[in-house]
Amino acid sequence: MFEVLSERGNDSVARIFIAQTRDGHRFEFVDAGPRILPQGEPWVLVLSTLIGCPVRCRMCDAGGGYEGRLTTRELLGQVHHLVRRRFPEGLPEGQPVEVHLTRMGEPAFNEAVLEALSALPKALPSAAVTPLVSTVAPASTRAWFEALLELKQQAFADGRFQLQFSMHSTDEDARRRLVPVRCWTFDEMADYGRRFHAPGDRKVQLSFAPAQGVPVDPRALRGVFDPGRFGVKLTSLNPTSTSRRSGLVSLLEGSQPASAEAIAAGFRQEGFEVLVSLGEGPADELGSSCGMSLAGERLAVPRPRRTLGRSA
Ligand code: SF4
Repeated sequence: MFEVLSERGNDSVARIFIAQTRDGHRFEFVDAGPRILPQGEPWVLVLSTLIGCPVRCRMCDAGGGYEGRLTTRELLGQVHHLVRRRFPEGLPEGQPVEVHLTRMGEPAFNEAVLEALSALPKALPSAAVTPLVSTVAPASTRAWFEALLELKQQAFADGRFQLQFSMHSTDEDARRRLVPVRCWTFDEMADYGRRFHAPGDRKVQLSFAPAQGVPVDPRALRGVFDPGRFGVKLTSLNPTSTSRRSGLVSLLEGSQPASAEAIAAGFRQEGFEVLVSLGEGPADELGSSCGMSLAGERLAVPRPRRTLGRSA
């Protein structure tokens, strides 16, 4: 299936595993902690879904160098490896586990993601599993999203699933420049969210990493996204080598939570619940969370998040 070549990182932040498939392709996955799990707190696993990514977003080191999709076994193998390493005796009964498909790759480009998600409850029978799927919503993947909706209803109802749209801008032209693949329009995302979100579900998150010169105007979402079904997540732009090359500079800083307040207040004024989730300096020095830095032989580490609110 794959061989884990190395593990790196800081146990107080996150531990990254570099793996190689049988045919020699490398990818990474992460135990994002926390190291000590307070009662009821989720353990967060961060998985890759592709090897590289064909989308090539202007802020992400996973873009480029696309080498293919991970198989269902390789997707579940990441989970099994992390569980074996962290809990050799088995997961404690009822342990909340969040499985984030946010490391390398646009999940909607991989059919095996659906199979792996549907197998998760059986793979972790003693855990309370909540998947998080973060997507740019590529226009060519409508059938995948219809299957995801059905899967959520069948296996992860009642708030045990988090869907997140990577937005980055409230201006669709600006978004197209940042995410250079044909994606759903905001109206199409809103329509899908209306059907996806059922009573008891977590709100669909609209995720923004505001950057200097990139429009983020909460008023532009008025009448498009229903605050009863959508929440907003604000995060600092990862200091990847790609974002630096693109000239993108984060408006939000982990060391200055107040930097998010004006934008958050604007979204709240439009009726949205807002989650502010900022990276922190020491982890930034180790690397960024979005994508892969293997190309530069610099391993990326997901940043710890400081939660100042809740969107779901
Ligand atoms: S942000 Fe997501 S979709 Fe964009 S290049 Fe990175 S992994 Fe691919």
